[in-house]
Amino acid sequence: MKVARYNYAHQLGSDIEPLIADLRAMLVAGRYELTAEVRQFESQLAQFLGARFVRGVNTGTDALVVALRALRIGRGDEVITQANTFHATVGAIELVGATPILVDVDPETFLLDRQQLGDAVGPRTRVLMPVHLYGKPTPMAEIVALAESRGLFVIEDAAQAIGARTEGQSVATFGHFGCFSFHPSKNLSAAGDGGAVVARNAELDEALRRQRELGQVGQNNHVVVGFNTKLDALQARILSWKLPHLEQWNEHRRKAAGWYRERLAGLPLGFQGRTAGETHVYHLFQVRTPQRDALLAHLREHDIDAVVRYPTPIHLQPAFAAYGWKAGRFPVAEALAKELLCLPIRPDIGVEEIDYVADCVHDFFGKSGLG
Ligand SMILES: *Cc1c(COP(=O)(O)O)cnc(C)c1O
Repeated sequence: MKVARYNYAHQLGSDIEPLIADLRAMLVAGRYELTAEVRQFESQLAQFLGARFVRGVNTGTDALVVALRALRIGRGDEVITQANTFHATVGAIELVGATPILVDVDPETFLLDRQQLGDAVGPRTRVLMPVHLYGKPTPMAEIVALAESRGLFVIEDAAQAIGARTEGQSVATFGHFGCFSFHPSKNLSAAGDGGAVVARNAELDEALRRQRELGQVGQNNHVVVGFNTKLDALQARILSWKLPHLEQWNEHRRKAAGWYRERLAGLPLGFQGRTAGETHVYHLFQVRTPQRDALLAHLREHDIDAVVRYPTPIHLQPAFAAYGWKAGRFPVAEALAKELLCLPIRPDIGVEEIDYVADCVHDFFGKSGLG
């Protein structure tokens, strides 16, 4: 058996002819830029999230960059985020000229350690940027309260967590801005790149829109310097086609995660901790073991598309060498980078696939004498 990480045919559904017909009509008519299709997707997503202001942009990375720019974050400002995130979170901070401040994560949840977050706030801090990593929502009430008490902004990196909820609310709706990615790997994916930003109010939404559209207010009137990073209209149409299924897909991911936990119980493996009342969307299903690399090789030998996300934590990446962060500085992030492994999880993964993966994992620990 072969167990894949993605199945785009399933996401598109068995009859894609109506979608193809729409895309053909758009191509021929030249409906390419900020069209009705883009506005429709934005309002569809707003409704899905229970948000009022959503703007489509080119990528999840751009979403973070324009959100920071819309808050006028730049040189001399500090933005706090976590050491175990994907490169783009910290890259976006650097790209606007601000200084990333990293904090370590909780060893149970793999999310921001709120004690360390509070301790990291200093006179130059302007933004707190929690990441809802692997699809698990970061509890937001305390972070929002901390931001309010210190006069800070909150930007949520929700690229991995579309549809996740905590404290009765969708991720990306707690902060001043919330950012999504529609990269093909994400729970809701375009046929290429895409992203979106949720704004807390109309004023922030307008600042964001200007950053998205070359700083324009009306044609040829550029009031600020902005990026040009609009969600492509064809991608918007594809996203609108898929979004009605997202809730059900996320529900299946939760079910699949439950099957994994059940079938892997009793093995010397750790899992991302669960929090009462949360709705996790299992962008990734992580297992933790000091024998990670050997287990990965074993699964790959058995045609299971397991991967490591992410093998090198931010502070040890060459891109950020200038900050002088040393090995040992963020021990939890470092341990997770060495020990986490993603087992395949998809909105259509079958229980027989999960059984096969679980059998292979049991087989590995049986042979290694630790099972
Ligand atoms: C994917 C991702 C991004 C960037 O999104 P792109 O669309 O690939 O630019 C940012 N942050 C996190 C946590 C991500 O997983």
